[in-house]
Amino acid sequence: MNEHDSEMLAGMLINLGYWENPVRNQADVILINTCSVRENADKRFFGTLGQLKKEKRNRPELVVGVCGCMMQQQHVVDTLKAKYPWVDLVFGTHNIHEFPLLLENILNERKKLVSVWDDGEEIVEGLPVHRKHPFKAYVNIMYGCNNFCTYCIVPYTRGRERSRNPEEILKEVQKLVADGVKEITLLGQNVNSYKGPKPDRVTFALLIYALNKIDGLERIRFMTSHPKDLSDELIQAYVDCTKLCPHIHLPMQSGSTAILKRMNRKYTKEGYLALVEKLRNAVPDIAITTDIIVGFPGEKEEDFEETLDLVQKAQFDSAFTFLYSIRKGTPAEKYGEQIPEDVKHQRFSRLVEAVNSISVEKNQAHVGRVEEVLVEGQSKTNRNALTGRTGGHKLVNFKGGKDLIGQIVKVRIIDSTTFSLTGSLE
Ligand code: SF4
Repeated sequence: MNEHDSEMLAGMLINLGYWENPVRNQADVILINTCSVRENADKRFFGTLGQLKKEKRNRPELVVGVCGCMMQQQHVVDTLKAKYPWVDLVFGTHNIHEFPLLLENILNERKKLVSVWDDGEEIVEGLPVHRKHPFKAYVNIMYGCNNFCTYCIVPYTRGRERSRNPEEILKEVQKLVADGVKEITLLGQNVNSYKGPKPDRVTFALLIYALNKIDGLERIRFMTSHPKDLSDELIQAYVDCTKLCPHIHLPMQSGSTAILKRMNRKYTKEGYLALVEKLRNAVPDIAITTDIIVGFPGEKEEDFEETLDLVQKAQFDSAFTFLYSIRKGTPAEKYGEQIPEDVKHQRFSRLVEAVNSISVEKNQAHVGRVEEVLVEGQSKTNRNALTGRTGGHKLVNFKGGKDLIGQIVKVRIIDSTTFSLTGSLE
């Protein structure tokens, strides 16, 4: 979501006549779009701001702006005002459409400006976007979240759920396809609870059926989906909609039903496994990936073992694993029984080992198969190789000319590692 917001902010700057300068100390405007999901991102933000102090002293005409989720937290704005006077502009997640106006104000008045809205009922359509890739695009279908998982800051920084009108989404995707986009990723904190306006109340699954009919569009992906709202209708969409990629990211967070309850996740370990089974029955080859938090307050050794057990039973293709970190303002901040750091780290290593050994086997099973790969660019580690993604979102490296970037090609898989596949063009 933040990445896509950055694409929109870049689009607005380009419309104003700016261009992206990779050399920071030559830029006229430096804008930091922040994330507050984890503590680490907070720390990096303040570290980067510290580095900009000298820059601003040397070049007072430089505009330093900060925006994104962290700005929706009053204590962050207070800290900025008190300790970082070289920041010129502060705005939040609900008014990014105001950015050109705010910037113009700064340039004309040369006065500091803080504009953070508490909420954003209105969805602003048609903002310019500067996409990283010409052949794939993010498409927001909804904003905000109503779930209030007890560890998560997002409902406080992004507000309540608001779904876009399905007609606006279809129009946007048709335009993207006309511009050469082959793959779209539908974005929302919980896409499964997408609901179009009355009286039709288009569901997320129905939206996918409608998108599947768009000529020229080749792949549909989405993230992220909450297990409690994963409907049979959506599972059926995987069977019926040929463009819907056989991949789902379904965050499990913990394998312990007791911890899931403390997290306010509203499903059980058994319920989660039943969903995995339903998905695999409907789409045997579906790739399932997940998020797992280690060391949530009150997590006992037996709870952690439930997590390891769920990992074994669900056989995830891969997982993002996180050490729990306290987020100020969330209910879990006030929970007792915080887990000592050494215990968290030790559990984390055991979990990563379990997840990776399954990923190795899952990837190995692709060797010998021919996969359709959307070529995304040159490999970061080998400039002579190309890199792309299968429908199941596996990373594939193979030899080929740069002219293939943006194409969907057939690649025979010849080798695999924990995190990627190697292939050769068919
Ligand atoms: S579903 Fe839970 S984890 Fe996801 S954004 Fe909403 S509150 Fe956060």
